[in-house]
Amino acid sequence: MDGYRDLTIDSIRAGLREKRFTARELAEEALRRARDGNEASGTFLSFTPERAFAVAGRVDASVAAGKDIGPLAGVPVAVKDVIMTAGIKTTCASRALEDFVAPYDATAVKRLEKAGAVIVGKTNCDEFAMGSSNENSAFYPVRNPADPERVPGGSSGGSAAAVAYGYTPASLGSDTGGSIRQPASFCGAVGVMPTYGRVSRYGLVAFASSLDHIGPFSRTVRDSAHLLGTVAGGDPYDATAANMPAADFAGALSADVSGLKLGIPREYFGEGLDAAVGARIEAGIKRLERLGCQAVEISLPHTRYAIASYYLICTAEASSNLARYDGVRYSRRSEDSETLRDMYRNSRAEAFGPEVTRRIILGTYVLSAGYYDAYYKKAQEVRSLIARDFKQAFESVDAIVTPTSPFPAFKLGEKTSDPLQMYLSDIYTITGSLAGIAGMSVPCGASPEGLPIGMQILANHFEEQTMLNLGHAFELDGGFEG
Ligand code: GLN
Repeated sequence: MDGYRDLTIDSIRAGLREKRFTARELAEEALRRARDGNEASGTFLSFTPERAFAVAGRVDASVAAGKDIGPLAGVPVAVKDVIMTAGIKTTCASRALEDFVAPYDATAVKRLEKAGAVIVGKTNCDEFAMGSSNENSAFYPVRNPADPERVPGGSSGGSAAAVAYGYTPASLGSDTGGSIRQPASFCGAVGVMPTYGRVSRYGLVAFASSLDHIGPFSRTVRDSAHLLGTVAGGDPYDATAANMPAADFAGALSADVSGLKLGIPREYFGEGLDAAVGARIEAGIKRLERLGCQAVEISLPHTRYAIASYYLICTAEASSNLARYDGVRYSRRSEDSETLRDMYRNSRAEAFGPEVTRRIILGTYVLSAGYYDAYYKKAQEVRSLIARDFKQAFESVDAIVTPTSPFPAFKLGEKTSDPLQMYLSDIYTITGSLAGIAGMSVPCGASPEGLPIGMQILANHFEEQTMLNLGHAFELDGGFEG
C-alpha cells in the first residue's frame, strides 16, 4: 500500500470515510510489514491477526452502513507485551510467563478497541520492563531502525521500533523510569509518559506500582494526543487512576506556544552529556524561543540522588510484585523438584533472567528489617525532595526542557556487563517518574552518525496539554530536522 508509512490517525479516518482503503486492508498491510520485518528487527513477540481482523471488520461494517466511526477507527496499533490482552499471550518477555494467556483486557486496551483501533501484535521489551536497551528480553533483542547494530532503548523497545520501522502508526508502551521516553528518543519517535494516575494501570503487569504508567508512541505529536485522550480517565478497577474526565488532547492541540516559560535545569547539561546531544537540545530550545517561548535557567538540586532513590524504590516494589510468580499461582513450575522449597526455588531460578533476579534480591534486601530505614525509607524521603524540586520549579515555569537521554542509541552488548552504566542512561527520565509528573520525548534531529536524538518536555501534574502543545509546535516548525 503506497504511503502507508506516512499515514496518521486523521488521514486514516479520512481515507476510510472516502473509501480509499478499508480497515481490513490496513490491518493486512500492518501485519505483512511487521511479519516480514520481524526476523531482522525483533520488534514483535506475537501477532494477533484474528483479533485485528475482527475489529477491522466491525469498523468496515460501520463505514459501509454510513455509521459513525470511532476516533481511532482502523488504526493499526502495537501493544507492549506487559499489557494484558484477553485470550492472547502476555509474556512480559519472560520465560516465567512464556505460555501465559491473559484472562482479561487491560483498561487501556479496551478503550483503544472501543475507539476502533486495531491491535496487530504484542511487542518485545525488557523482561518485566526492567532495562534500558531491550537486551533483557528472554527471547531476542530488538534492533534500532537507524542502525541494526544498536539497541532501540528500553524497556519498550519493540513499541518504539514498531512505529519507527513503519509497521504501525502508533503503539502503547509502559514507562516506570523512562521506558517510553528513552526508546522514543533512540528510535526517533514521539513517546509520552502521562501524569501518574492519568491512565489506568488495570491490566498492566506490575513492576513498580507507584511508578508504572501506560502511554503512547507515534510518529506525530497529534497522534500521541489522540491515543492519550482515548486511554485516559478514571477507572473503578484502578484506585490510583485519577477520576478526571478524559480530555480531548488532540482536539485542543494548539501550536501557539508564545509566552510560555520554559525551565532549563542546569543539572541536566553537565558532566556525562554527549556533546552532539547537548548541541541538538540547545538548538531545540532556541527554536522554541523563536516560537515565542521564554527559556530561563532553573535548578533541580536533588537530581543527583535520583538514580539511587529510583533503584531502591523500584526494586523494593518489584520484589513484592514479582513474589506471585512462584510456580503455583503464576509462572511455569520447575519439573523436577523433590521438596516444596526446591520447587519454589527452582521455578523462580528457571523463570527469571539475571536483571530481574538482581532486582528481586536487591529489593528484598532494602525492605528487610535491618535495612528498611537506611535504604527504603531514605529513598522515599529523597523522592519527596525530588518532587519538591519540581513543585518549586513549576511555580515559575510552564514546562521544563531537557535531553531525554545523555547519549544516542548505544551498540548492542555495549553496556550489558555493567548494570550501573545501564542504570545511568535513565538519569534524565527518572526524576520526572519519581515526581509523578508528565513527560514526553520528541525527535530533535540526529547525531553526526545519523542517530536520532530526543528532546524531553516535562510538565506539571495533569498539564499534558501544555506539553503536547509545545511538542506539536516544535514538530510543525521542523523539529524533526532540528
Ligand atoms: N530503564 C529503567 C529500569 O530499568 C526504566 C524501566 C521502565 O521505565 N520500565 O528500571
